[in-house]
Amino acid sequence: MKIKYKLLAVTGFSALTIALLSIFFYLSFQSFNLAIEYFMVGLIVAFVLNTVVTILLLSNSTSGQLPRSFDDATEKLKASYFEDLEKKVSEKTKALTQRIEELDSEQQKNKEAEEKALIEEAKEKATLTGIGEGVVVTDPQGKILVFNHAAEQMTNWMASEVIGRFWFETVPAMYEKGYLIPRKDRDMYKALTTGKKVFAESIYLQKGSGKITVAVTATPIILKDRIIGAVEVFRDIGHEKEVDRMKTEFISLASHQLRTPLSAVKWFCEMLLNGDAGELNPEQKEYAQNVSDSNERMINLVNSLLNISRIESGRIVIDPKPTNITTLLSDVIKEIKIKSNAKKQQIIVSIHSDLPLINIDPQLIREVYANLLTNASKYTPPGGEISVFISKKDGELISQVSDNGYGIPKKDYDKIFQKFYRGENIIKIEPEGNGLGLYLVKAIIESSGGKIWFESIEKKGTSFYFSLPISGTQAKKGKVTLNS
Ligand code: ADP
Repeated sequence: MKIKYKLLAVTGFSALTIALLSIFFYLSFQSFNLAIEYFMVGLIVAFVLNTVVTILLLSNSTSGQLPRSFDDATEKLKASYFEDLEKKVSEKTKALTQRIEELDSEQQKNKEAEEKALIEEAKEKATLTGIGEGVVVTDPQGKILVFNHAAEQMTNWMASEVIGRFWFETVPAMYEKGYLIPRKDRDMYKALTTGKKVFAESIYLQKGSGKITVAVTATPIILKDRIIGAVEVFRDIGHEKEVDRMKTEFISLASHQLRTPLSAVKWFCEMLLNGDAGELNPEQKEYAQNVSDSNERMINLVNSLLNISRIESGRIVIDPKPTNITTLLSDVIKEIKIKSNAKKQQIIVSIHSDLPLINIDPQLIREVYANLLTNASKYTPPGGEISVFISKKDGELISQVSDNGYGIPKKDYDKIFQKFYRGENIIKIEPEGNGLGLYLVKAIIESSGGKIWFESIEKKGTSFYFSLPISGTQAKKGKVTLNS
């Protein structure tokens, strides 16, 4: 029923009740005043009743009308909310799917990278284990990070014992003379502090009481101009050293034994050529001269071999004396001039004006100048120019012997100081020679505390340089001297 009809009915019912009540009281009490009073009471009762009914009806009707519109609104709200939610969920799902895909591919990539790294590590391990040389890798302070199988075998230390310990203390090194090499002079330390590769020979003290002679290459690891560690590769050269020592001993013995018969041949040749056994005819003279020349070459070779074995075995005496280099050099030049004049070569000498006397072994250094000047003359065509410069620089005496001769082929640079090396470019031009001169020169300079190096351009010329400390060479006791 509609609300206005309900109100109408209630109002009608109330009015009727009042009217009935008023008539009833008028008839019962025959009093107009009382009827009015009861009419008023009826009116109030009707009003209250009406109000109550109206309130009830209204509350009923709102609970019937409002829910519907509210429901509608809620429905609408719900719909838009769910629509929104759905959209959001679908967006989120999409993003999540994408992220999962990304993660998956990242994971795949990581897995691949991990596998690659593992393979690399396995390769590295296999290389390090398989390698015959000892390999030690340290951090910038010299703490061991890697210690391979060969290093374990050579030092008697296990990798598990030494990783994290200091290399210099764990494996001490010793000089040949028997005293320990201080940390600052260790090859690895030099590589770590200078950033330069170091090659050397050393004696390592093994765990326990043993020793091992090793050839060492220490290389710094440099990353973005920073030294982040170093790798040392060392090789057991004990056997090589022993073979070398035996070779030297054999050469020394053989040369010594050859000297006596060679000297005899020399004397007899001289006697023959002097006509002591009667005048020789020209043909006989030529043959005797050939024998004498060949014998002389043999004597030179034997002397060179003997000198080398003396220096290599450390038996040679180094006997420094205050020496005037200018006088020493002019003596050598006098001898060289016999050959250079024959080839019409010019020798230019320039010596620093106030050189002090320097403490060197004159016999050894004379051998150096003689060798370098002989070579300069030998390996320079007739008419060429030879020059000698002696200067002082940073506490060192620098000697330079230059020529404008045949030069040294670039491909042979690293062989120049090796025993028996002779350049292909000169063998045909100058067949005489044994390739031992420069080897001996280098050995002398190094045992005198100096260095030797060269510069050369083929067909243009060569310069050999050597340095000697102005403070002088240290004396060394020994059993033999050069050419003795
Ligand atoms: P040798 O002179 O007896 O051959 P060395 O040891 O003195 O032996 O020299 C070795 C080689 O080095 C020579 O054979 C030559 O090829 C090269 N050499 C040395 N000095 C010179 C030079 N001044 N110019 C060009 N080549 C040189």
